[in-house]
Amino acid sequence: MKENINNILEKISLACKNSNRDKKEIFLLPVSKTVDVDKIQEAIDLGFYTFGENKVQEILKKYEYFDGKVKFHMIGHLQTNKVKSIIDKVELIHSLDRISLLDKLELEAKNKGITVNCLVEVNIGKEDSKLGIFEEDVLDFIREVSKRDNVLVNGLMTVAPYCEDAEDTRIYFKKMKSLFDEISKLKLKNVDMKILSMGMSNDFMVAIEEGSNLIRIGTSIFGARNYGVLSN
Ligand SMILES: *Cc1c(COP(=O)(O)O)cnc(C)c1O
Repeated sequence: MKENINNILEKISLACKNSNRDKKEIFLLPVSKTVDVDKIQEAIDLGFYTFGENKVQEILKKYEYFDGKVKFHMIGHLQTNKVKSIIDKVELIHSLDRISLLDKLELEAKNKGITVNCLVEVNIGKEDSKLGIFEEDVLDFIREVSKRDNVLVNGLMTVAPYCEDAEDTRIYFKKMKSLFDEISKLKLKNVDMKILSMGMSNDFMVAIEEGSNLIRIGTSIFGARNYGVLSN
């Protein structure tokens, strides 16, 4: 794992060099979905303490196991009926993608007297298989969030279309960055555009070159996922 991580850090450096950026701007979020706690512990020992997960049940289990010592980001589809159980256990929700979820987050955050940090998920490739808001609807959606009190927008997230050649994802990341900059300029209430979450194992160098400052890496750190191990 250490070698995997060093490999990624080298690629982050290179991508930053290519685009004249400071590598300190880039946050590496290990995605530990389906990964068991021993491997997460190994990553903790290598200096990580924030992990991305995509299932509420799995976050709750791991949260309990690590007794609050580890922070989790919710990066997967969030069902409204699961909001209550997780809202105060995650540091950031990357997958705010619809009004019904916004309403539920606002309600549960109010009930608990907290605010909840979210990224708005964008379906930048307009793929049927992907979640997220189409780019032309993002601004209206964020204006809607801005009318609430307890839900805060910290930025945008996307999963780019999978391309054999990562270079082909560049246009999507470029679109995301310009959307991000456009919204930043508006200075809306409860909207603080500081995180642009894009880039995964196969395309993170291109994402960084185009302005990502949070990359979500699973396979390249933990190896191929085994979806069987955590069922039931
Ligand atoms: C699984 C997942 C990742 C990590 O993907 P890898 O290709 O394994 O790096 C990143 N983001 C989201 C939303 C995911 O579901």
